[in-house]
Amino acid sequence: NPLEDRPRRFLLKLSGEAFSGGTGLGVDPDVVHKIAREIAAVVRDGAEIAVVIGGGNFFRGAELQQRGMDRARSDYMGMLGTVMNCLALQDFLEKEGTDSRVQTAITMGQVAEPYIPLRAVRHLQKGRVVIFGAGMGMPYFSTDTTAAQRALEIDAEMLLMGKNGVDGVYDADPRTNPDAVKYDALEYSEVITRDLKVADATAITLCRDNKLPILVFELLAEGNIARAVKGEKIGTLVSD
Ligand code: UDP
Repeated sequence: NPLEDRPRRFLLKLSGEAFSGGTGLGVDPDVVHKIAREIAAVVRDGAEIAVVIGGGNFFRGAELQQRGMDRARSDYMGMLGTVMNCLALQDFLEKEGTDSRVQTAITMGQVAEPYIPLRAVRHLQKGRVVIFGAGMGMPYFSTDTTAAQRALEIDAEMLLMGKNGVDGVYDADPRTNPDAVKYDALEYSEVITRDLKVADATAITLCRDNKLPILVFELLAEGNIARAVKGEKIGTLVSD
């Protein structure tokens, strides 16, 4: 197993909504600091961490489209929103003494490097956190799909899906249905056929076709990022 010869590498997908700290909009520095502290701790323990952050705390293309805007243009706005989250996380990682680089799929040389996969891997090997911004750079995609694609391209062993306010995958919405039951483990095919809320279908099929396991867990529960990296039994594991 080639993975045994090198540090463990993970792609961490962070909910953009979580960054807003309950308000749903913008960035709450306290929340971002808390997440940065946890990431810095697992990097100090030797894990390699790459990050993709959603943008739902700024714009979602599909929502703007419903309100009359052109879909592709609103998707670009969505992608630009993710970059602000990336810069916020970079700032707090720096304050924790952890080096990081932001790489964006839409070039913006003053604030970030362009997405260069081999360079991203080099950064990871040097102990830097790599934060991927602007999604895939393409309208009609999501940051979930971006997370799956980047995880595959940098050869991460697992996609860690940090969710906002839910500790795994349930058979019904636990916020509205008190009888909802949490799954400890699921197969990709069940996620797709039952349309379970793990990630969008494009992301799930990408993981399934390439056998990339996904751990869905509650992002803001204290210590959960470390638990996810250590392989403790939290959340829901989606695999073959
Ligand atoms: N987006 C896109 N292409 C990508 C990634 C994101 O067009 O590769 C846009 C899309 O409009 C999306 C928004 O950026 O709604 C924010 O991304 P995210 O995946 O967080 O959307 P959410 O899951 O919060 O709806």
